[in-house]
Amino acid sequence: MNKITKNSDGSLNVPDCPVIPFIEGDGIGPDIWNATRQILDDAVEKAYEGKKEIDWLELDVGEKGFEKTGEWLSDKALQTIKEYIVAIKGPLTTPVGEGIRSLNVTIRQKLDLYSCVRPVKYIDPVPSPMKAPEKINMVVFRENTEDVYAGIEYASGSKESESIIAFLKETTGANLTAPAGIGIKPMSEVNTKRLVVAAIQYAIDNGLDSVTLMHKGNIMKFTEGFFRNWGYEVAREKFADKTITEDELYEKYEGKQPEGKVVIKDRIADMLFQQVLLRPDEYGVIACPNLNGDYISDALAAQVGGLGMAPGANIGDECAVFEATHGTAPKYAGLDKVNPSSLILSGAMMLDYMGWNEAAALIRNALQATVKAGTVTYDLARQIEGAKEVKCSEFAGHIIEKMG
Ligand code: NAP
Repeated sequence: MNKITKNSDGSLNVPDCPVIPFIEGDGIGPDIWNATRQILDDAVEKAYEGKKEIDWLELDVGEKGFEKTGEWLSDKALQTIKEYIVAIKGPLTTPVGEGIRSLNVTIRQKLDLYSCVRPVKYIDPVPSPMKAPEKINMVVFRENTEDVYAGIEYASGSKESESIIAFLKETTGANLTAPAGIGIKPMSEVNTKRLVVAAIQYAIDNGLDSVTLMHKGNIMKFTEGFFRNWGYEVAREKFADKTITEDELYEKYEGKQPEGKVVIKDRIADMLFQQVLLRPDEYGVIACPNLNGDYISDALAAQVGGLGMAPGANIGDECAVFEATHGTAPKYAGLDKVNPSSLILSGAMMLDYMGWNEAAALIRNALQATVKAGTVTYDLARQIEGAKEVKCSEFAGHIIEKMG
């Protein structure tokens, strides 16, 4: 059977022709997926001279799923992702303030994909608002399952919010203005630690020299403050021989990073937003709670040229879903116009995750060469003087040509 399987140590067994489920996505999803699929197929074919191939399996999720089956996200689709271990998806629509919950958040939570991994690296010569964008090489590890994204919130004036307000008043004396909407912000030791373990392991495996715990623990002491504490604790518990704290760096090593050690440091969230602009080269992996991670990963993506260029993955112990970080950009749906790079680079991340690094490298090099040649989609063309604007599908064609 052509299924990817997992060993007890978490490593993958990848057959030469693995079945990989995909979700095309809504809005611009079909455009960017078609471009991405062609490039992934071509890169695999070229890198392995036809000895490897992906056997794509479409999952009807989102608007397509609703039209065909009446379900936005079926249990069967979730089970299929679990069964095949690695999947890729385009963006999915979420109506604001009413109706269905975000399908993206639901997929992450139901499959327990607890790390949202977003590498942010400059691709020369993508236009950037930074003076020295080449200094940016960070990877955000965002906790994906809890924080205010846990989905526990109640409308102002609802029975639930009224009773929570009454309970807090009675038991703690908290003086809350009622009526009020109430949202719950859970952060647990177990979920924080598994995220930080994944972040440190990634830094070790990929030669990044620091892991920064990003938090707002000065204000939210028992949630974000403990995110920081548990982060340091698990670094000591699991990586004592491979990590040092920033204090130790100065006390024992005079500020000179010893070979083979990852420095664990922490920064308050608002300050980190300044630092990634002013001194980006001081940061490697950033491990953070859900909401901080949502904000900082988009801000960092802007520093290297915007959301159209930012790849991402949601990874758990059982399976992983690779995805474009932007949304469905409905005004461009069906126009064959937008930049498919975010999904293409997410596909390259997926190939790396499968151990097909040669194919991933082919894609990254060809994408960079295409941008360097000045053949780009509208979003980059409006920022690069003399660039030639091409359609989404034409951009894919140029990348395929460069892989030749
Ligand atoms: P969006 O779809 O990301 O689009 C916002 C703007 O970003 C676009 O108008 C465009 O800007 C730019 N953009 C996004 N993707 C691009 C691409 N591939 N190439 C070039 N430019 C791109 O954000 P939104 O309008 O806030 O959200 C629309 C829907 O997507 C919502 O239903 C939201 O819930 C959903 N969403 C889904 C995901 C996901 O599936 N993971 C993530 C975020 C949002 P310009 O017009 O300025 O060129």
